[in-house]
Amino acid sequence: MSTPGGSRPGPVSRRTRYDLGRDELSELLTGEPAYRVEQVWDGLYRQGRTVSELTNVPKALRERLAAQLPTALDEVTRVTGDDGRTVKFLWALDGGSRIETVLMHYDERSTVCVSTQAGCAMACGFCATGQAGFERQLSAGEIVEQVVMARREAGDRRISNVVFMGMGEPLANYDRTWEAVHRLHDDIGIGARHLTLSTVGLVPGIRRLAVADLPVNLAVSLHAADDELRDELVPINRRYPLPVLVEACRDYVDRTRRRLSFEWAMISGVNDRFEDAARLADIATDLRAHVNLIPLNSTPGYAVRGSSRNRVQAFAEDLRRRGVNVTVRDTRGSDIDAACGQLRAGHEATAVAPPARRR
Ligand code: SAH
Repeated sequence: MSTPGGSRPGPVSRRTRYDLGRDELSELLTGEPAYRVEQVWDGLYRQGRTVSELTNVPKALRERLAAQLPTALDEVTRVTGDDGRTVKFLWALDGGSRIETVLMHYDERSTVCVSTQAGCAMACGFCATGQAGFERQLSAGEIVEQVVMARREAGDRRISNVVFMGMGEPLANYDRTWEAVHRLHDDIGIGARHLTLSTVGLVPGIRRLAVADLPVNLAVSLHAADDELRDELVPINRRYPLPVLVEACRDYVDRTRRRLSFEWAMISGVNDRFEDAARLADIATDLRAHVNLIPLNSTPGYAVRGSSRNRVQAFAEDLRRRGVNVTVRDTRGSDIDAACGQLRAGHEATAVAPPARRR
């Protein structure tokens, strides 16, 4: 829990392809015709091309750009599940850390789930990333490149949504995450309402988000609606207990008029009792928040199991009766260890030859 407010910069890697802003690209292209900046920017961001695919740019320049704009993500593996509807990538970063990205196809749209940190310092016991601890912050470019790469994989299917629900705590890497939000919005063209930041409940970050310049969606990983249980499940609750968190959420909703959602991983016998539903309903109806129930994915470091299907349904029904708007999230990727750091955990012992760099 070293960076609760996200204000302290953590170590990041060298600058990579999508870390550069337009101004820096102009600088890099000094001496070239002015239209090259737009050409390269358009190719990299809007069309998601690699430098070698920028065929409207002279070869010598392409070679220079490939050398000066290194890519951030080296593919370690990619796995496909749910009959091709879920693709999960494991990437190696500069310095050796590994992160995951998930691409999920739905009927009308596709969603990318990105990581914002290598590892996580929040130490939630049921989360595979939390069990492994914090490694380093991701740069904005490392976050954006995950979307660019997923979009390449998606081909003709449009990426309509990006959720910041992969590894790490976005609000503990606030500035770089926000820069990535802007790139996705301004340059890749994803609307603010199709961008969702998920947080463990870092109150200073929620307060910053309430006055930020893009109305993105906020999801708060609640998981417990009383302090005693939440202290245990989500240790940062000891620093920002429920009354403080709820006030920050209220302020966020009042200022932004955006809908808030609460995430609730259903853990058998721990937070799936009717008394939990009653407490959760009090908070959710008060804030008019939407509740997302996530059946717990089991992880090696956490002995308790997820709630049964029946229990999840009964809990959802109970919340509905109490006036709460509820959805049960489908557990995408559980057949391919796609949930929450599990692919990386499963690959820890595997030696992988460094793949060829993309140019
Ligand atoms: N740090 C952020 C975002 C990453 S986790 C956050 O906590 O919100 C994304 C969501 O997955 C969170 O709601 C998290 O609590 C949940 N999660 C983590 N491990 C899980 C598991 N084993 N099963 C189900 N959900 C899990």
